[in-house]
Amino acid sequence: MGPTKRYVMWDTATNGLPDDEVLFIFGHESGHYALHHIPKGFALSAVGLFFVYGACAAFAAWMARRFGAGWGTSDLHPTDGDVSEGTPALSSRTGFVVLLFSISIASFLLEPVSNAVSQHFEHQADVYGQEAIHGIVPDPQKTAVAAFNALGQSWLEDPNPNPFIEFWLYDHPSEQHRAEFAAHYDPWKNGGHGEFFKY
Ligand SMILES: [Zn+2]
Repeated sequence: MGPTKRYVMWDTATNGLPDDEVLFIFGHESGHYALHHIPKGFALSAVGLFFVYGACAAFAAWMARRFGAGWGTSDLHPTDGDVSEGTPALSSRTGFVVLLFSISIASFLLEPVSNAVSQHFEHQADVYGQEAIHGIVPDPQKTAVAAFNALGQSWLEDPNPNPFIEFWLYDHPSEQHRAEFAAHYDPWKNGGHGEFFKY
């Protein structure tokens, strides 16, 4: 946030990886900064959550109206002055619990949406990182592949994850897919240039 932005790399990476691969990881993280992924992520979350939380509140209020009478709660909203009847209001403690329940269901169902955005940003940062080290390390493809393999090993990541699990739960593309892409990403052959660096 603001002037507190910083780049952090743990000693587990800097001590365990060759300099070329550390440089690639630095390029990847710089990509998040240069491509404004953090403010974009905040903006998307703010707009998304505005609607998601609105829908959750509406769903929780409907649950309380439809089923609340049978919950045996003392948080009843009297319909005609009789406090033993009616349904819990969304603003009661019971309503709050139902709201939390709705949000946790929505979070689970929408996980692939936020993960798709995150995976897209991570892929862009991978491309940026690989382009950033072009001309600095002898073989950007080999360096990136080696870095992904090392990261996958240190995170104990499944080397061949189920595609559905990757789609639903992974906030980064799998190391397998990142390494496969990196091995074949070579925009410089035949005199071309990268997507983010025009040389
Ligand atoms: Zn990243």
